[in-house]
Amino acid sequence: MLCTCKHCYKSFMSRTYTSVCEDCKEIDREIFEKIKDYLTRYPNSNAMQVAEGLGIRASLVLRYIDDGDLVISKGHFESL
Ligand SMILES: [Zn+2]
Repeated sequence: MLCTCKHCYKSFMSRTYTSVCEDCKEIDREIFEKIKDYLTRYPNSNAMQVAEGLGIRASLVLRYIDDGDLVISKGHFESL
């Protein structure tokens, strides 16, 4: 199936649904760790606050949630 990388927006083919291309796997893990770390320190943050705090796009934070990588407890994480 045709997938689009959530970091560089490159389209690539993959047998299973993948949201990150090979080139961005490292970056993806780093950002994911940063988001988790941020949410540990500021558990009530919404996507916008996380994005601002880390200097990344809010849409990227939402992609992690959509992909099921990031599970926000207690429903504090708001959609835009
Ligand atoms: Zn990529």
